[in-house]
Amino acid sequence: MELDKMDENDWKYHGEGNKSLVVSHLQHCRVLRLLKFPSEDSAHTRQFLASLGTSICNNTAEQAFRHILNIVDYSKYVMKPLLGEKYVHSGEVVKLPLDFVRQLSLKVQQERPELRCDKVMDTFSGCGLCLPNLTQLPLHHLRDHRPPICVEIKPKCGFLPFSRHITKECKRKVCRFCMHQHYKLANGKWKRLSRYCPLDLFSGSKQRMYVALKNLLEEPQNNLKIFKGGELIFSCKDDAKQQPELNDLIQHLRPYFSHSNGLYNGHQPGKAILNEFIQVICSALLSGGDSNRSGEPRKVHLSESRPHCEASPFPRDLLRNGNHGLPKDSVLAKILQVQMLDNLDIEGIYPLYKRVEQYLEEFPKERNRLQIDGPYNESFMDKVKNCPTEDDGSVEYAVGKVHQYRVAMTAKDCSVMITFAPCEEDEEQQLKLEKPRFTYSISILDLDPKPYEGIPHQYKLDTKIVNYYLRSTQAPP
Ligand code: ATP
Ligand code: ZN
Ligand code: MG
Ligand code: MG
Repeated sequence: MELDKMDENDWKYHGEGNKSLVVSHLQHCRVLRLLKFPSEDSAHTRQFLASLGTSICNNTAEQAFRHILNIVDYSKYVMKPLLGEKYVHSGEVVKLPLDFVRQLSLKVQQERPELRCDKVMDTFSGCGLCLPNLTQLPLHHLRDHRPPICVEIKPKCGFLPFSRHITKECKRKVCRFCMHQHYKLANGKWKRLSRYCPLDLFSGSKQRMYVALKNLLEEPQNNLKIFKGGELIFSCKDDAKQQPELNDLIQHLRPYFSHSNGLYNGHQPGKAILNEFIQVICSALLSGGDSNRSGEPRKVHLSESRPHCEASPFPRDLLRNGNHGLPKDSVLAKILQVQMLDNLDIEGIYPLYKRVEQYLEEFPKERNRLQIDGPYNESFMDKVKNCPTEDDGSVEYAVGKVHQYRVAMTAKDCSVMITFAPCEEDEEQQLKLEKPRFTYSISILDLDPKPYEGIPHQYKLDTKIVNYYLRSTQAPP
């Protein structure tokens, strides 16, 4: 890719989240991730840009550049060591010609879903992030006519908080995702409740994971997307009232699960196809990260808290069945372990945030030494790892816990990508009518730092979600 010869016709719209828009290259397995800004007015944009950078830069393009650099550093020096080398691709910052970025922004505008159009693509800074296209398998030989399938899951928080600072008992019984669903429904964010519960997905029990994945397929919201050959084929509908098309998905998947000819005459019912599809995702999630498995993996039991959420639709009498715990090197165990760095809960963190704020008011120059806004390097990582376990009343303790909390927040908001393609079919396998085998690769993406300034908002939001949940689920006296 030659940066001075960038042509918008080589790129197409790929997808977007709340903070960035992604385009993919038509030939190479590469994507560009570009930041987005609130679109209302320029004053807003200036304010937003000002909030991104440290005060040393007064040039907004320079600030955007620093911001993207911070994203890469954070991924490289903080999240990658914590989550594991094999799962994280940090990418690199690229300086793009402004003309290219402007043309690209015009080109993709019509493809963007309406619900995302409250923000506009950054066309000022000329900076972007270049990453491998994780919906593709670069080493997948084209001998097989079936393109890779990619399942993207945003699993959210997989444990119940166990902090002694918690004031509302329901937080120990019902997980954040399930409580948040009620709040989102009331605020019109979604039209239907999702029955997905992260605690089921993170349980390590095949039965519970199956139910979690099935519920994601029935109501994907922004927690599930499926790609085929790099094209999005399944996600939540722009029109929130419309159900996702499971039948279309089954048609897409049929060629990948067309074994068992003897049994079904090549026409497996849709249910059986979905069933096998879910099982492939499950085994990938329980594996060590790639198709070359070895032996029975060691299980870990991470949670200190109750392992089941009372709002989950999984039948309670089946909970005792099956073995719990995730294999130690599995992608979900890695993510959960980082999420659990939040061991004080926002209720325990907020007072520590205020301690830091008070200290900075008195000693504003300390902001740099304490690395409140980065740089995200080994020294930041040291503060995360070597934070004292007991509160000694120091600002160092408070900063360490706040850093840990922010790292955990990133792990609660990341996505997992499982990309798989059929192994070459050998005749013997066909004759035996064996189940199809897949080669796959797993990655974790969207590992941006969460802003320090966001903590008061998180505190208020937590109160709102919990209070709303209690009001909406407790029958009036
Ligand atoms: P969120 O609102 O979840 O925080 P975000 O704005 O931070 O999202 P990303 O999640 O990084 O943005 O990217 C948006 C979407 O683009 C992803 O959900 C994914 O489908 C796609 N995407 C991002 N990075 C890649 C990649 N390296 N390869 C393929 N697709 C990608
Ligand atoms: Zn739950
Ligand atoms: Mg995302
Ligand atoms: Mg993000």
